[in-house]
Amino acid sequence: MIYKCRNCGANAIYSPEKQSMYCPYCDSVDCEELSPGQGMQMCGNCGAEINPGDYRSVVKCEACDSYIIFEERTTGEYEPHLIIPFKMGKKQAQELLKKEFGKRPFLPSDFLSESKLDKIEGMYVPYFMYDFDCDYMFRGTGHVVRRWRSGDYEYTETSNYRLERDMNINFEKVPVDASIAMADDIMDLLEPYSYELLQPFDTKYLSGFAAEKYNMSSSELEPRAIKKAKVDARTLMEQTLTRYSSVTDRQDNINFQTKADNYSLLPVWNYTYIYRGKPYPFKINGQTGKMSGKPPISIPKVIASGLTVFLSIAAIGGLWNLIMGVI
Ligand SMILES: [Zn+2]
Ligand SMILES: [Zn+2]
Repeated sequence: MIYKCRNCGANAIYSPEKQSMYCPYCDSVDCEELSPGQGMQMCGNCGAEINPGDYRSVVKCEACDSYIIFEERTTGEYEPHLIIPFKMGKKQAQELLKKEFGKRPFLPSDFLSESKLDKIEGMYVPYFMYDFDCDYMFRGTGHVVRRWRSGDYEYTETSNYRLERDMNINFEKVPVDASIAMADDIMDLLEPYSYELLQPFDTKYLSGFAAEKYNMSSSELEPRAIKKAKVDARTLMEQTLTRYSSVTDRQDNINFQTKADNYSLLPVWNYTYIYRGKPYPFKINGQTGKMSGKPPISIPKVIASGLTVFLSIAAIGGLWNLIMGVI
């Protein structure tokens, strides 16, 4: 499927800045959805060969720059329930990278070059967002210790309490990414997303971005979501135990019941910088701008500045001696 401009026939895309569909060539907002009978491997606009791999549900055609949406991968069992549309456009994402890393020392010189930053790609990442009903039973013994002095004596009083807690917690939309290519720890760092902007899914949001269908099933990912929710459940429980100096004989039993597993697409800007053959992935939350990723250190730059580094260490060493001397 492809979105076309009714005015000039070019590929219409979704604009995060305008929060609507528009044509980047003639600025018209009037577009239509076309489903030319394309095969999986062919661009519906120009006929060039395209390769969606195993999971891509939207691919940009290299020949004509159109965004081709694969209906087989966005409908039926692959139709997302919800989507957070991109709020941040490509320019804004590039500016964020420049702001974050512009003043970093030892960065490879082309890390923020226009040609490298141009390769930044907006992508909808598949997620399952679980609703859980959680029953949390906790038993234990709480101790409160009180000390005071009277005359020559010090007194200690320990009071013991039998603790019983039965909590019922409703978790809503605990997110877990369903993309094999996305490293879990990096994706977790992009949270939180603001759920007020969740929309019912509409294919128009996909035009202009890459997207993947889920590559792991909901039942495969459920244990990860439960693990995340458990951490929060335990934190909540601990908050009810803060008045005790210590808690012993701990026993707990946590049960999760899954009520929903909303299949959703969330917006991420991807920037992959290759340095000495090694990829350095950066991800930016396409809704909030939160970023994750670690840049490489340019070895030639560090060597070039060796003298300065040595001098500043010596200076700090000197300062340290001085302080010690005063003490
Ligand atoms: Zn147009
Ligand atoms: Zn094409």
